[in-house]
Amino acid sequence: MEGTVAETLQVQCCIAGGGPAGMMLGYLLGRAGVKTLVLEKHADFLRDFRGDTVHPSTLMIMQELGLIEDFLRLPHSEIRAFSVQIGATCLKVADFARISAPYRFVALMPQWDFLNFLAEKGRRFPALQVKMSAQITSLIETEGRVTGVQVATSDDSLEVRANLVVGCDGRGSTVRAASGLVVQDLGSPIDVLWFHLSKRAGDPEQVLGRLAADTMIVTIDRTDYWQCAFVIGKGGIESIQAKGLEAFKAAVAHGARFLSDRVDELKSFDDIKLLSVSVDRLMTWSKPGLLCIGDAAHAMSPVGGVGINLAIQDAVATANLLAVKLKAGTLRDGDLDAVRERRLFPAKVIQGLQVAVHNRVLKPVVSGAEHPLKVPWPLKVLDGNAWLRRWPAQFLGMGVRPEHVQSPDSP
Ligand SMILES: Cc1cc2nc3c(=O)[nH]c(=O)nc-3n(C[C@H](O)[C@H](O)[C@H](O)COP(=O)(O)OP(=O)(O)OC[C@H]3O[C@@H](n4cnc5c(N)ncnc54)[C@H](O)[C@@H]3O)c2cc1C
Repeated sequence: MEGTVAETLQVQCCIAGGGPAGMMLGYLLGRAGVKTLVLEKHADFLRDFRGDTVHPSTLMIMQELGLIEDFLRLPHSEIRAFSVQIGATCLKVADFARISAPYRFVALMPQWDFLNFLAEKGRRFPALQVKMSAQITSLIETEGRVTGVQVATSDDSLEVRANLVVGCDGRGSTVRAASGLVVQDLGSPIDVLWFHLSKRAGDPEQVLGRLAADTMIVTIDRTDYWQCAFVIGKGGIESIQAKGLEAFKAAVAHGARFLSDRVDELKSFDDIKLLSVSVDRLMTWSKPGLLCIGDAAHAMSPVGGVGINLAIQDAVATANLLAVKLKAGTLRDGDLDAVRERRLFPAKVIQGLQVAVHNRVLKPVVSGAEHPLKVPWPLKVLDGNAWLRRWPAQFLGMGVRPEHVQSPDSP
């Protein structure tokens, strides 16, 4: 009957969103025996917009969970160095082979494979349930405390009651919007156009970023095709469309010359998705009964390709700090802020760098104004010194406060 709730579930922790933060937290809480329900609004994990980078910090977590061998059997490629191309100059900027970490590379793996893997491995935990096609529509609050969520499923509605709701529903988080938690917008002058082009014999080796005076394009090797990210000015999609597809294809060919023989694979603007970029942060990440982590707490730009790993680190820290108390039923509202205290510094450092790159590097490129294209001297120094290239790799790969799994394995 319309307007009635078909089913009510009671769990210890309800996780909103099955992205990297939500699936990792679900896995860890299920592993610790906390009765947990992950709700994901899509029917599967096949979302094209997701980044593909699994950094050494996440590989270390997979090792600590005893999952690494099976994980690395999934199809992936291993990047041991990052390069950027500025104009015609190609510069090596990060060398992962020299970092201090058990796995010294970035695994490039479609994120749906990573999330499916976690979902599959999590099935052995009786305490964990992952429900797909389940979209959280609102929070249930009782006397100022979040006590559950309302959910629309593919064929019905559901009410979930929980001791703790964790918002892991990304940068457009429904949970945080409904919570009234205050968001600090750090601004983003860019959006991204996202599309595929085929890979061909003789293509250059992995160079992630290609910067010209008026274009920035990132090409990600997905084994049999290139996933391309073309950076545009915030809200600039209408003017790109007004100039027409041919002009856009010419800009892509100009930004990454090796793609010029296949830009005709783009048949219409339907082949090109607009991904809105935002960088923001909650002032407080929790209120009674509710916690936000990952992009829901601090939306990340694609710059540096570290948002997934930061979201996973948040999940590990959350489980470390809260799992035992959640399971025992002794969690207090005052315990929740410990997650923000632990994870705010890494989020701030990375977001600060992303905002600096937006404003100093990308804003001039997308502004359309003439400006000289100069290779910054620190990049020249890095390119010329293999020993120094370990430090950007260490920072990108492991982050500033790497988390280790400390939550119990007692399903
Ligand atoms: C264009 C672009 C490219 C990027 N590339 C990279 C990259 O290569 N590497 C990298 O590390 N980072 C990248 N990032 C950043 C990265 O995507 C995020 O930081 C990361 O995905 C955050 O993970 P999360 O789990 O917090 O949120 P998300 O990955 O956004 O996951 C949120 C999940 O919640 C679900 N959901 C949303 N609303 C609801 C609801 N109401 N009910 C139920 N479920 C819901 C969504 O379907 C989704 O599955 C990129 C960002 C952008 C914008």
